[in-house]
Amino acid sequence: MGYLHDQSFDYIIAAFAQCPDENLSNLNNVTSTYTAISTHLTTQPNSCSYTMALALPMHNLPMDEPAASEVFEYNNQTFYCWKLTETERAHIASMLNMDATDLKLKGNNFLQDRSQCRGCGKHSGMDDFVHNALFAGIHSVEFMKDFLLGKTEQATPYTEHEVTCSRCSTKHDETKSWPTYPPWPRY
Ligand SMILES: [Zn+2]
Repeated sequence: MGYLHDQSFDYIIAAFAQCPDENLSNLNNVTSTYTAISTHLTTQPNSCSYTMALALPMHNLPMDEPAASEVFEYNNQTFYCWKLTETERAHIASMLNMDATDLKLKGNNFLQDRSQCRGCGKHSGMDDFVHNALFAGIHSVEFMKDFLLGKTEQATPYTEHEVTCSRCSTKHDETKSWPTYPPWPRY
């Protein structure tokens, strides 16, 4: 299972094994699990007691201290480029069932700097957005993969999201936002 946080994955499978939704009865790999749970959360949000508790599964990955964001100006706005740490890269790759070396993203340009989770100390990262989007059923694995690989254009010129810590489920006070331009740096 590679980098995947095996413990929480097993925990998710064990919990959903008792859910009456038959689409959740065949969870045998990361992609099908994330997709099935996303679908489940979207279509049957209250069908079982496990759903809400597990809406945002947590993980226990080691954290590395991210490099300071690169601050720059563009179009009279101040940007903070959150440089992807290798832990974040691996975490994203595991959620999207892809090889970390295929994720050629260097960082993400936000209008806010990273904030540190008051629950566990993890810095907000793109991995949190991927995690939140998948488990809230907002975006599919395929959508997120295409988006992060630069295969799809962002449909809106400006995006703003709340961010919940993927490690301990504590919500950050500040919402984070990013315009479509300038594009995110890649290798
Ligand atoms: Zn946290």
